[in-house]
Amino acid sequence: MGLESQATSFIIRPKPSTANPFLRPRVRRVMAAPSALVLKCEACGAEVPHRVLRGKIGGRDEIVFEGTVKCPNCGRVSTVVTREPKPIEIPLIVSWLDKSERTSLEFSPEENVTVGEALDLGDSRIEVTAVEANGRRVPAARAKEVATVWAKRIDRVRVKFSVNKGNRTVPHEVLAAPDEEFEIGEIVDLGRDRAVVHHIRTSQRTVHYGRVRADEIVRMYGRVVRERISR
Ligand SMILES: [Zn+2]
Repeated sequence: MGLESQATSFIIRPKPSTANPFLRPRVRRVMAAPSALVLKCEACGAEVPHRVLRGKIGGRDEIVFEGTVKCPNCGRVSTVVTREPKPIEIPLIVSWLDKSERTSLEFSPEENVTVGEALDLGDSRIEVTAVEANGRRVPAARAKEVATVWAKRIDRVRVKFSVNKGNRTVPHEVLAAPDEEFEIGEIVDLGRDRAVVHHIRTSQRTVHYGRVRADEIVRMYGRVVRERISR
């Protein structure tokens, strides 16, 4: 096999977003009337999603929905009033990379908050790492009893990348989604430099061919690419 046939096919990865995830707006329940409600029909007895024909949301201590709904089973149109407790805001400390940030997240008062569960925070995904209720750390608690929730961001991971720059090796870090794959031969944009991935170490093995998920990578190894790549 000659050198020609071994030429690596280059894949250019778009530069990862450097936007501060903590600046994104957190999730807020939109106080708009729902488009459907699961209700038991008084006429046919079916417990199915009823289409909301019209309605409004109100209430001070509770979220009260008043409106007109239609049973999809028998077509009966009826007026309903439903009530659910207002969400409460729980202080939340989210860590990511070397930073942690104080924010808050809304929960329904009776909802359970459990260590290990995944939640949405704005556009990012977080995993609960600790719950404090009644002055101590607990594995789970009702939201109304929780004082503070700790979480870590899980939708982005940091991939270590050792890059050979001729006479020295420089450590880099690449941000990626956990299920994003890196491929041997791929070119990673490092800002000022671009580097080709030579091999990837996981906790199990060293990979010299193929792809590896970002969350399985212990470290990638590569070298700076100086050639101009025509598109
Ligand atoms: Zn019905």
